[in-house]
Amino acid sequence: MNNSKIENLINSFEKFEIAFLLKHRLAEFMKPTQLKIVALALNKGVQLNEVDAIIQERLEQNIVLSAENCPRCTSNKYFSHVIEVDDVSKSNQIDSMVGEVRVLTQEVRNCIVCGLEHDKRSRWGWKQFFRYK
Ligand SMILES: [Zn+2]
Repeated sequence: MNNSKIENLINSFEKFEIAFLLKHRLAEFMKPTQLKIVALALNKGVQLNEVDAIIQERLEQNIVLSAENCPRCTSNKYFSHVIEVDDVSKSNQIDSMVGEVRVLTQEVRNCIVCGLEHDKRSRWGWKQFFRYK
Protein backbone atom coordinates (compact mmCIF):
# COMPACT_ATOMS: atom_id res chain seq x y z
CA MET A 1 0.00 0.00 0.00
CA ASN A 2 1.60 3.27 -1.00
CA ASN A 3 1.31 6.39 1.10
CA SER A 4 -1.58 8.00 -0.77
CA LYS A 5 -3.64 4.80 -0.42
CA ILE A 6 -3.08 4.54 3.32
CA GLU A 7 -3.80 8.26 3.63
CA ASN A 8 -7.05 7.86 1.72
CA LEU A 9 -8.03 4.91 3.89
CA ILE A 10 -7.34 6.58 7.22
CA ASN A 11 -8.89 9.84 6.06
CA SER A 12 -12.08 7.94 5.18
CA PHE A 13 -12.31 6.72 8.78
CA GLU A 14 -14.27 8.43 11.50
CA LYS A 15 -12.48 9.03 14.80
CA PHE A 16 -13.93 5.95 16.47
CA GLU A 17 -12.82 3.82 13.52
CA ILE A 18 -9.26 5.08 13.83
CA ALA A 19 -9.37 4.30 17.55
CA PHE A 20 -10.53 0.72 16.92
CA LEU A 21 -7.91 0.25 14.22
CA LEU A 22 -5.17 1.44 16.57
CA LYS A 23 -6.37 -0.79 19.40
CA HIS A 24 -7.04 -4.00 17.51
CA ARG A 25 -4.84 -4.00 14.43
CA LEU A 26 -1.81 -1.78 14.85
CA ALA A 27 0.44 -4.59 16.14
CA GLU A 28 -0.14 -6.73 13.03
CA PHE A 29 1.42 -4.17 10.66
CA MET A 30 5.07 -3.66 9.85
CA LYS A 31 6.83 -0.88 11.74
CA PRO A 32 6.84 1.73 8.91
CA THR A 33 3.11 1.13 8.42
CA GLN A 34 2.49 1.50 12.14
CA LEU A 35 4.36 4.81 12.23
CA LYS A 36 2.46 6.09 9.19
CA ILE A 37 -0.90 5.13 10.67
CA VAL A 38 -0.09 6.73 14.03
CA ALA A 39 0.95 9.93 12.23
CA LEU A 40 -2.23 9.96 10.12
CA ALA A 41 -4.31 9.29 13.23
CA LEU A 42 -2.71 12.30 14.93
CA ASN A 43 -3.61 14.42 11.90
CA LYS A 44 -7.21 13.33 12.39
CA GLY A 45 -7.04 14.27 16.07
CA VAL A 46 -6.67 10.79 17.54
CA GLN A 47 -3.83 10.30 20.00
CA LEU A 48 -2.83 6.87 21.26
CA ASN A 49 -3.67 7.76 24.86
CA GLU A 50 -7.23 8.67 23.82
CA VAL A 51 -8.02 5.40 22.08
CA ASP A 52 -9.79 3.67 24.98
CA ALA A 53 -11.88 6.75 25.78
CA ILE A 54 -12.96 7.19 22.14
CA ILE A 55 -13.93 3.51 21.92
CA GLN A 56 -15.82 3.67 25.21
CA GLU A 57 -17.70 6.77 24.05
CA ARG A 58 -18.70 5.08 20.79
CA LEU A 59 -19.92 1.90 22.47
CA GLU A 60 -21.99 3.90 24.95
CA GLN A 61 -23.97 5.47 22.09
CA ASN A 62 -26.12 2.31 21.72
CA ILE A 63 -25.80 2.25 17.93
CA VAL A 64 -28.49 0.12 16.30
CA LEU A 65 -26.52 -2.44 14.33
CA SER A 66 -27.63 -3.69 10.95
CA ALA A 67 -26.17 -6.66 9.10
CA GLU A 68 -23.69 -4.23 7.58
CA ASN A 69 -22.21 -3.19 10.91
CA CYS A 70 -19.40 -4.97 12.67
CA PRO A 71 -20.70 -6.07 16.09
CA ARG A 72 -17.39 -5.22 17.75
CA CYS A 73 -16.54 -1.78 16.41
CA THR A 74 -19.89 -0.83 14.75
CA SER A 75 -18.17 0.20 11.50
CA ASN A 76 -19.67 -0.75 8.16
CA LYS A 77 -16.32 -0.84 6.37
CA TYR A 78 -15.41 -4.36 5.34
CA PHE A 79 -14.10 -6.36 2.45
CA SER A 80 -15.53 -9.72 1.50
CA HIS A 81 -14.46 -12.86 -0.25
CA VAL A 82 -16.16 -16.15 -1.07
CA ILE A 83 -14.83 -19.42 0.30
CA GLU A 84 -15.85 -23.06 -0.15
CA VAL A 85 -17.05 -24.92 2.92
CA ASP A 86 -18.08 -28.50 3.59
CA ASP A 87 -21.79 -29.19 3.67
CA VAL A 88 -22.37 -30.64 7.13
CA SER A 89 -26.10 -31.27 6.71
CA LYS A 90 -27.52 -34.63 7.82
CA SER A 91 -28.33 -35.73 4.27
CA ASN A 92 -24.82 -34.98 3.11
CA GLN A 93 -23.38 -37.28 5.78
CA ILE A 94 -25.12 -40.18 4.02
CA ASP A 95 -24.55 -38.84 0.51
CA SER A 96 -20.84 -38.59 1.19
CA MET A 97 -20.73 -42.35 1.89
CA VAL A 98 -21.40 -42.95 -1.80
CA GLY A 99 -19.13 -40.19 -2.98
CA GLU A 100 -21.63 -37.41 -3.48
CA VAL A 101 -20.06 -34.53 -1.64
CA ARG A 102 -21.61 -31.12 -1.83
CA VAL A 103 -19.53 -28.04 -1.36
CA LEU A 104 -21.18 -24.82 -0.34
CA THR A 105 -19.86 -21.36 -0.85
CA GLN A 106 -20.13 -18.68 1.73
CA GLU A 107 -19.33 -15.02 1.86
CA VAL A 108 -16.86 -14.04 4.53
CA ARG A 109 -16.43 -10.44 5.54
CA ASN A 110 -13.43 -8.98 7.26
CA CYS A 111 -13.91 -5.73 9.11
CA ILE A 112 -11.26 -3.36 7.78
CA VAL A 113 -11.36 -1.34 10.97
CA CYS A 114 -10.97 -3.92 13.77
CA GLY A 115 -10.22 -7.10 11.81
CA LEU A 116 -13.25 -9.12 12.95
CA GLU A 117 -14.28 -11.83 10.50
CA HIS A 118 -17.95 -12.19 9.67
CA ASP A 119 -19.36 -15.52 8.55
CA LYS A 120 -22.54 -14.61 6.68
CA ARG A 121 -24.28 -17.93 7.36
CA SER A 122 -25.69 -16.78 10.64
CA ARG A 123 -26.64 -13.48 12.14
CA TRP A 124 -24.50 -14.18 15.18
CA GLY A 125 -21.71 -15.71 13.17
CA TRP A 126 -19.11 -13.06 13.78
CA LYS A 127 -15.96 -14.49 15.18
CA GLN A 128 -12.59 -13.17 16.04
CA PHE A 129 -10.15 -13.44 13.21
CA PHE A 130 -7.11 -11.69 14.56
CA ARG A 131 -5.79 -12.05 18.06
CA TYR A 132 -5.88 -8.83 19.97
CA LYS A 133 -5.17 -7.59 23.46
ZN1 LIG B 1 -14.98 -4.09 13.33
